[in-house]
Amino acid sequence: MPNIGGPELLLILAVVLIVFGAGRLPDVLGQLGKGVRSFRDEANSDKAAAAPAASSTATAPAPGTTVYCRNCGRPNGTDAKFCSNCGQAL
Ligand SMILES: [Zn+2]
Repeated sequence: MPNIGGPELLLILAVVLIVFGAGRLPDVLGQLGKGVRSFRDEANSDKAAAAPAASSTATAPAPGTTVYCRNCGRPNGTDAKFCSNCGQAL
């Protein structure tokens, strides 16, 4: 990996200007930005897609079933917000 300082960046910029032309530079930078953004969106959507699926199976019980405390395992009423034995949020 070569050290890239100010002079090298200017050289790269000059090469980019020559290759793409000064008029297309905003285009090129825009495409670069879009590429980075879509990559980030993809990374985020992967997390977002995985998280709700995991939490819905762990925390959302079907209606009409007993809710068991995750802390002590004691069964609680379906509308209980906290464990009647240890106070753990259900
Ligand atoms: Zn409990």
